[in-house]
Amino acid sequence: MPASPIATSVAAVAVIGSLNMDLRVQTPRLPAPGETLIGTGFSTDSGGKGANQAVAAARMGAAVAMLGRVGRDAHGAALTQALQADGIDTSAVGQDTDAPTGTAIIVLMPSGENSIIVIPGANHRYTPAEVAASASAIRQAKVAVAQLECPLDTVRAALALAHGAGVCTVLNAAPAQPLDDALLAAVDWLVVNEIEAEMLTGLPTDTPAQIEAAAHTLRQRGPSQVVVTLGSAGLLHVGPDGALALPAPRVTAVDTTGAGDTFVGALAAGLAEGLPIPAALTRAQVAAALAVTRLGTQSAMPTRAEVEAFTP
Ligand code: ATP
Repeated sequence: MPASPIATSVAAVAVIGSLNMDLRVQTPRLPAPGETLIGTGFSTDSGGKGANQAVAAARMGAAVAMLGRVGRDAHGAALTQALQADGIDTSAVGQDTDAPTGTAIIVLMPSGENSIIVIPGANHRYTPAEVAASASAIRQAKVAVAQLECPLDTVRAALALAHGAGVCTVLNAAPAQPLDDALLAAVDWLVVNEIEAEMLTGLPTDTPAQIEAAAHTLRQRGPSQVVVTLGSAGLLHVGPDGALALPAPRVTAVDTTGAGDTFVGALAAGLAEGLPIPAALTRAQVAAALAVTRLGTQSAMPTRAEVEAFTP
């Protein structure tokens, strides 16, 4: 894994979001209630949608600042150090003396699919006031990225601050939850998967036509650019110039955990760099495709060199 971002890049991405310690369990199947099952593996990995996206952006060569909150405990220290090892500025990662660092228990099946339980801990104690205290890190960025694992008022404050300062805002509306139009009005890029698109619009997303209709509906609520990610089927992008469907590179998936986070972080880096939209989307898809070929979350995210060397 890389120790630092690519020195030639001056792109600036501020990620406002969660940091979790991932506890990864491999099992042949999920246990029934009351059943004890012998699993096949265990590992820990730095995670949280915010931290994951920060790492994905940093591995693409962006200069990244992470804004969020951990507990004053061993997991919090390890997560912060992991970000620093990728060259990420963690000066706006606060420590909570009462709540533990966020934890995610990831249960991974042989098919590559996963089931996840998240205990938010300190992430849910990250407040709008703390965002305001780190306002300069957001204002200086070219792109501000948020997700929905921190309190909605905190996300709202961060997006409003960035949008008001003319910083390009990216919201990955995951995990799915209802969002009001005032929040969406501060979003330039909305990235959702099919389930999140369905939840936000109340529209079905079973066919390509339905997915496009949902994306148009989301655009009408504020974001100028909407991306619906479709797993191994790629994505649909809808922007002012219309719709663009991009297939995903064909790879053998072993662990899809963090595919969406890799995509969002790499997309943010591409936008901060000023890449044309189709190029930014395509590079983010290659990054996500490479990530699903390996076990792990942050540890599975590719470097820029790996993405550039990828041939489908
Ligand atoms: P997760 O919650 O598992 O992180 P997600 O549901 O947010 O993922 P997906 O739509 O599954 O997001 O994946 C995001 C992007 O990652 C896709 O648009 C695609 O480019 C890439 N991707 C995901 N799975 C695969 C795969 N099996 N093969 C190739 N690319 C993939």
